[in-house]
Amino acid sequence: MRELFGFMDEERVLTSPEEILTYSYDATRHRSLPGIILRPVSKEEVVDIVKIASREALPIVPRGAGTSLSGGPVPIKGGIVLDLTLMDRIKEVDVENSLVTLEPGVIYDGLNKALEEYGLFFPPDPGSGKVCTVGGMVANNSSGLRAVKYGTTKDYVSGLEVVLSMGEVIKIGTKARKSSSGYDLIGIFVGSEGTLGVFTEITLRVIQRPTDFATARVGFTRMEDAGRAVRKIISAGLRPAVLEIMDTHTLRAVERYMGQGFPEVEALLLLEMDGFDDGVKKRLKKGIRLCRGEGAALVEEAKSGEEREILWKARKASLPALARYKPTLILEDVTVPISALPKMMRAIGRIGKKHGVEIATFGHAGDGNLHPTLLVDRRNKEELQKAERAMEELFLEAIELRGTLSGEHGIGLEKKDFIGLEHRDAMELMRGLKKVLDPEGIMNPGKIL
Ligand SMILES: Cc1cc2nc3c(=O)[nH]c(=O)nc-3n(C[C@H](O)[C@H](O)[C@H](O)COP(=O)(O)OP(=O)(O)OC[C@H]3O[C@@H](n4cnc5c(N)ncnc54)[C@H](O)[C@@H]3O)c2cc1C
Repeated sequence: MRELFGFMDEERVLTSPEEILTYSYDATRHRSLPGIILRPVSKEEVVDIVKIASREALPIVPRGAGTSLSGGPVPIKGGIVLDLTLMDRIKEVDVENSLVTLEPGVIYDGLNKALEEYGLFFPPDPGSGKVCTVGGMVANNSSGLRAVKYGTTKDYVSGLEVVLSMGEVIKIGTKARKSSSGYDLIGIFVGSEGTLGVFTEITLRVIQRPTDFATARVGFTRMEDAGRAVRKIISAGLRPAVLEIMDTHTLRAVERYMGQGFPEVEALLLLEMDGFDDGVKKRLKKGIRLCRGEGAALVEEAKSGEEREILWKARKASLPALARYKPTLILEDVTVPISALPKMMRAIGRIGKKHGVEIATFGHAGDGNLHPTLLVDRRNKEELQKAERAMEELFLEAIELRGTLSGEHGIGLEKKDFIGLEHRDAMELMRGLKKVLDPEGIMNPGKIL
């Protein structure tokens, strides 16, 4: 296959067995070998590659940092993995209009570092922000700890340049703050998981970086009480910037991992207010009062920037800490309406017991996005089957509660067998869209639909 791509520098065309293996997986248990890895450095190269893929009917799988939790960048039909991490230039920071234009391989934390000097920031903040790319975030509509106040990636995409499946390039979006012009094409591409085209340029709306923060963690001896406290904080209009939850299994794992002297509670909330004056402290106090009203057993407020860092670190360590327990983590991201949060929490406990699977839960309680994490060993077939049955029941429960299969990780391979349960009659429309934009079916085949 190498000879097809003679126009690229040799060192950016990878075919050795170890390179092929390296690009065969993401952060899930899914694995599949690509035929070749191409590392373009420009839109023009992407266009040439896509034209050849189209002519030769080769699957093409766009890839950022490969941190996906849904199997999205795993090349299940072989073909080309298009590694976009060398396209990592920030092209323009338009301070007057609060916009930044960049290539898809820019890393989330790197972007925010660059925006710091302008007092701006791009808020979605996925837990993988140190390594994941903005292209991957747009493709998955990623978000994270701040989504409860600031929304998800889709709320910030103002323009896209996309290479379509036959090599045509479209530019969509505008620099204007709002637009009622035509169909919302950006909305179709954000969250398309590499199945509709390759993003080669992204324009993001960015916002003023808050200057004041007030943070606390609040422990509850009953999960139900924590769930009710979350509902109260949200409905009181306190607009927390962060409202996270960790259950007792996660807390124990983090305690062993970091040794922070965590109390033995059933649920811990991380609550943060942010803004531009000391109103933030008042809002935090009010949030804490609401928690106490629901039976909070312990409250610890951060008294300095360092203490705030420690509270954040503990929450961000949830996944790596749990990863030390079992060789395989199946991390789900079912999301339910806030009013259904206590019910979903109860269901997770019930489902784990019923199938004999250990499930640790943490997540973004403030927007109903939970990460029930099934701890298994994929080499043990029986254990894996039990986990898969439990997972299916979790999905059904979330849909029953009028929630969604994925709040942020996407469908990819992990949930494609279930997507019809959520979208029902709209599935035909989605298949139709895919056919229009990718008639040969070469763009990341076998994902989502
Ligand atoms: C420890 C850890 C913590 C995480 N925490 C969070 C979290 O808090 N919130 C969250 O939302 N996610 C989280 N994730 C999941 C993951 O990091 C995000 O989905 C991330 O945005 C993926 O970015 P990436 O660069 O790694 O993309 P990849 O994994 O490489 O790709 C993801 C998808 O995007 C497509 N894609 C990539 N680049 C392009 C492009 N230029 N054009 C078109 N399609 C493209 C791929 O085909 C694939 O389908 C976490 C993952 C890990 C491992």
